[in-house]
Amino acid sequence: MDTMKKPVRVAVTGPAGQIGYSLLFRIASGAMLGADQPVELRLLERAESASSARLTGTMMELEDCAFPLLEGLSAFRDPVEAFRDADYALLVGARPRAPGMERADLLEANARIFVEQGRALNASASRDVKVLVVGNPCNTNAMIAMKNAPELAARNFSALMRLDQNRAEAQLAKKLGCRVADIDRVAVWGNHSPTMAADVSFATVKGEPVAGKLDAAWLHDEFEPVVAKRGGAILAARGASSAASAASAAIDHMRDWALGSGERWLTMAVPSEGEYGVPEGMVFGFPCRTEGGVARPVADLAISEALRARIERNVAELALEAEAVKAFLPKH
Ligand code: NDP
Repeated sequence: MDTMKKPVRVAVTGPAGQIGYSLLFRIASGAMLGADQPVELRLLERAESASSARLTGTMMELEDCAFPLLEGLSAFRDPVEAFRDADYALLVGARPRAPGMERADLLEANARIFVEQGRALNASASRDVKVLVVGNPCNTNAMIAMKNAPELAARNFSALMRLDQNRAEAQLAKKLGCRVADIDRVAVWGNHSPTMAADVSFATVKGEPVAGKLDAAWLHDEFEPVVAKRGGAILAARGASSAASAASAAIDHMRDWALGSGERWLTMAVPSEGEYGVPEGMVFGFPCRTEGGVARPVADLAISEALRARIERNVAELALEAEAVKAFLPKH
């Protein structure tokens, strides 16, 4: 008897980029949705893309992997077509910062992309589509897409902060000399920017609190800056920004969202419903649990004064980003 599930549609933007090159193969292999879930990949290229030949080569390689779960593979230049009936959308493509570009210019260039993609998702995606924004500035890009997709539930949208959580867990495991899998309840609050608050105040190792095992100086002088500046350190060392680790975090995010986290915490940036004083609609990194395809911030945590102040700094930064792109948000 054939026990395979019905294929699901997975749309990916920026497929010819360096994250795309790691991500597509892992989605097609079953790492994201499970070894019994066939997938149809729908790749969105930029209309004016100069990397069509590279994408063609990547698609040839995907074919050559002969993945048993890959039931369809097509490229599109129209987002409405790429997103048609999509069950999952990973929005990776974004305008990189060019030399001399101000942050406001970067925000605006990306805002245009995410207005168009939000509208396209609204027009053609499955009403249950799960959207993950990876392209930076990912929190604000996700907020723009969400606001431009009024017929989809806000909580269908999310942004990637799992890489920050994974980086934090790896640093902690190294310090404590344990396995990463022994660690839980590490959270990264706020914006995917150096302002983010990597927080171990609730963290456990083999179920025991880590609090007494770490000194404040290590946390303040090493752990927090290493996690917050890891992207820059990778860029300096590799001569290119994090790609395989970002793709891996995107796989983790979608897998846990779709298949459920159980009792474990995972950091996702999701539209706030007012949790922890974060204004409604702000796409903010919270420790979440997922069940039945729904992600919810862990409720009723006793937040210290110090963490509250760090959360407020992130709220202020995201409010400034929202102000810079307000022309791209529908007025209601
Ligand atoms: P690349 O530059 O390698 O690829 C970017 C892709 O985006 C290219 O395929 C490019 O298309 C496409 N793109 C560029 N401009 C536009 C546009 N105006 N509209 C639509 N697509 C466009 O980047 P990476 O793959 O390394 O990174 C992708 C994004 O992910 C970046 O924004 C990066 O900052 C972000 N990122 C986020 C992380 C997170 O944790 N949230 C971690 C790491 C990266 P073309 O080939 O046609 O130029």
